Amino acid sequence: MLTTKDMENSYRRMRRLFFGYKVPRASKVKFEISKRLTAVAAYAYHWCSLIKFSYWYFEKYPDELDRTMAHEMIHFCVREKPIHGKGYAKEEKRINKLAVKKLGIENFCTRYSLGRARELRREYLYECPKCGCRRIKRTHSKLIKKLRCYNCWKTIGKADIYMAYKGEW
Ligand SMILES: [Zn+2]
Ligand SMILES: [Zn+2]
Repeated sequence: MLTTKDMENSYRRMRRLFFGYKVPRASKVKFEISKRLTAVAAYAYHWCSLIKFSYWYFEKYPDELDRTMAHEMIHFCVREKPIHGKGYAKEEKRINKLAVKKLGIENFCTRYSLGRARELRREYLYECPKCGCRRIKRTHSKLIKKLRCYNCWKTIGKADIYMAYKGEW
């Protein structure tokens, strides 16, 4: 499992290989692993020298550590809007050239990650209008008019069904 120590070591490697003094020393950077990052792989907060990695993304793609770190470090040295604009593209090109020379890897740094950090798992939350008891179902029942509360046996209607993503309510 990914640790903040792994992140720090990766930062040191990438700094040595590609960035040098363009980015702060590893000891001045904060590293965090977040379960709240479900869409993107990582996020760089250059104004407070913080890099967050998605717990989910690195569970899925553990080998993406260095590549993702290099991408986020570009955001430390290029501050522009849109964030993946001309300045970003120029840095990416510079790093990719060096990566071929130093690591023998083509397209080392890319703008896009391999996919969502976590798949969307759509689930439905049923709330009984009478007793308020809740139930979660993976599928949307077509026989919704006949769905009954386990607790008080009241019929649950469409208005009492909420869509939600697991873990977000
Ligand atoms: Zn980016
Ligand atoms: Zn009920």
